[in-house]
Amino acid sequence: MGIPLIQKLRISRYIYRQKATGRSRFPMVLMLEPLYRCNLACAGCGKICWPEEVLDRRLSVAECLSAAEECGAPVVSIAGGESLIHADLPQIVAGLTVRKKFVYLCTNGILLKKKLAAYRPSPYLTFSIHLDGFRELHDRIVGKDGVFDTAVRAMQLLKNRGFRFTVNCTIFNGVSAVQAGEFFDFIMHLGAEGITVSPGYDYPGAPQKGIFLKRPESKQIFREVFRLGRRRKWRFNHSRFFIDFLSGNRIYDCAPWSTVTRNIFGWQRPCYLFADSYAASFRALMEETAWEHYGPGKNPQCEHCMLHSGFEGTAVMDMMTHPVQALAGYLKPLG
Ligand code: SF4
Repeated sequence: MGIPLIQKLRISRYIYRQKATGRSRFPMVLMLEPLYRCNLACAGCGKICWPEEVLDRRLSVAECLSAAEECGAPVVSIAGGESLIHADLPQIVAGLTVRKKFVYLCTNGILLKKKLAAYRPSPYLTFSIHLDGFRELHDRIVGKDGVFDTAVRAMQLLKNRGFRFTVNCTIFNGVSAVQAGEFFDFIMHLGAEGITVSPGYDYPGAPQKGIFLKRPESKQIFREVFRLGRRRKWRFNHSRFFIDFLSGNRIYDCAPWSTVTRNIFGWQRPCYLFADSYAASFRALMEETAWEHYGPGKNPQCEHCMLHSGFEGTAVMDMMTHPVQALAGYLKPLG
């Protein structure tokens, strides 16, 4: 798997400490969305459809750092919008890494060449480059020619300058296992530390419908892809049990509190993927959310969701409860 050992150990220590204090619900990841503004209008994302006054709003450096301290999660994924548009992003990243948060800075790569000088390589900073497939597919999904090539150049630049980087990839309807496998080979060849992968979530505001996979289709394609991966050296930014879940070999409930979201509206309920409401504080989010109303079979918006933001937390907890099974899992072939 593609997560460095030091990061795994720090996260494991954090989880043991949470459990030792008797907490059953706690976040492992903070999804920080300091702005919704983007320089693309991707087919699978509805953020750019917000009105201009919303797209002009930003979380301040102080709001971002206080969100990280309030929730305590060891991993902070900075999403958006296009995060590099935020003028104060270097200060936000520096403030988080100095607090020893493992930061994933999500970007489409377009502004990276222009902005990279404001960042320094660090074991706490990983650039997460959005790439959904080869040139034709990716440029179609993001609605703009040339973005694939720009993203690839961005990764080469990161590699040359000694930065950590991963690829964040969504699998949409119509992609075959062979195509996905060849794409994963390509990402590894570029030198990415790992691949974050998930089936596309059917966002209510997404400009294009019909590109999203239903749950049985997701399991089918992931099982086929991971079987192909038995003879390849792919590194995923996921736990082994989550990979098994994607393949349909494990059944998990969603743990939306394991990845909490702070954005320009507040603390988003219930999860990163959709908003029923917003809490004014992290504490209110954890204590006043009716968590039992969310997850497949409980809420129509959750029906086909298999995203890491809901299920990776459950997989990690399962691995920590069953360490022998977890070790055996890593020795078993994928798929
Ligand atoms: S199942 Fe998916 S959409 Fe539903 S609460 Fe969990 S993460 Fe969110």
